[in-house]
Amino acid sequence: MNGLDRALNSIIDHELQAKWMSGSPKQTLLEQLFTTQVENGVMPRAQIEGISTMEPYQGDGIHFCLQRNYGRVTRGVSEQVHPNPTYTIPFRGGMPCFCCPEVISYQWPKERGVYIEVGGLPLVILPNISPIFVPHFTAISPEHRPQRMDCNVAVGLAALVPGAWVIQNGQDAGATNPWHYHLQLFFADTLPIAVCPIKNKGDGVEILDHPTLVIRLQAHEQAGFETRLAALVARYLGLGDTRRVNLIVREEPDQWVGYIVLRDTRFRTDLYRSGQPGYAEPAGIISAVDDASYDIWALENVQRYHRLMTDIRPIDSETDLFIQALLAS
Ligand SMILES: [Zn+2]
Repeated sequence: MNGLDRALNSIIDHELQAKWMSGSPKQTLLEQLFTTQVENGVMPRAQIEGISTMEPYQGDGIHFCLQRNYGRVTRGVSEQVHPNPTYTIPFRGGMPCFCCPEVISYQWPKERGVYIEVGGLPLVILPNISPIFVPHFTAISPEHRPQRMDCNVAVGLAALVPGAWVIQNGQDAGATNPWHYHLQLFFADTLPIAVCPIKNKGDGVEILDHPTLVIRLQAHEQAGFETRLAALVARYLGLGDTRRVNLIVREEPDQWVGYIVLRDTRFRTDLYRSGQPGYAEPAGIISAVDDASYDIWALENVQRYHRLMTDIRPIDSETDLFIQALLAS
C-alpha cells in the first residue's frame, strides 16, 4: 500500500462505508457521519451551534437569506505541521494541500469520510469544515489534481444522493482550494435562487431575472441533462481564459435542475474578501462572519445584495451573444 492508499484507508469510516455499500439510505448515513464528526471534535460544536437560521429578505424582485455564521473559517495549515517525509506531500504555495488525504490523515487524524466512485472518478465525502448548512459536505478527489469543471461528476454525485444539492465552484470563482478537485453537497428544501423570477425562456433553459447572470437548466432524464449541461459549460468556458462558472445541480423527484452562474475573473467585487464569492451568494445565501458584517447586511440588505451581484456579472458583447445563441437553440 503506498502513502496515498494508506492515508485514504485511514480516513474512511469503515462502519459507515459498509452500510453505504449495503445500500442504506445515503442521506441518513451522511447525517450520521456529520454528527459523529461533531461528537469527535473534528467539527467544533460551538461553530455548528453558532450557525443561525436563514433570515429571508426580499424586494425589487431580489430574494436572499442572511445567516450568522461567525465560526466560518477557511482551513489553514498550522506551522507546527511537519508531515512524515516517507512519501511526497502535495504542496500549494509552499504549504501542504489541505485536501490531500496524506495531509488530512496527518493533521486531522480523527477526520472520517465515505469513499465513492462517480463517473469513473474516486471521491471521498467528508464534512465541510466551513458549513453553511448542517450537515454540509465536501467531496474530494483522493488524487491531487486541479479544480476542472467535470459536469459528469457533479451530475453523477447528485444521482448517487437524490435530493442533495451538489455544488462546484470554478477556480477563482469561490473555490477555496483551486489546486485540488472538490465538490460540495448539502440538503436544503429549497434555495432563494429557486424562486427567482424568469427573464428569458428558451427550450428547457431559462435566464433568471437576477442581478448576476444565472441560467436554469431543466430536464427529465439524467443523460440529456448531463449532455446539455456539459455542452453549455464547455461553450461558455471556451469564450476565454477568464471565464468561470459556479454549478448547482440536484435530482428532484420529477426532474433534474441545474443553475449555472456565469462568471468571469475580470469582474470582481469589493464587498467580498477575495473579490470572488462562490456559489452561495448567487444562490441567495449571505453568511455574516461577525457582528459588523451582519449589521451592514441587515441594514442595506437588497441594495447591498444587488451591488454584490452586479459587481460580478460578466458584461460584454461575447457574453450577450452566448446568451442569445443559448435561447435560440
Ligand atoms: Zn491536494
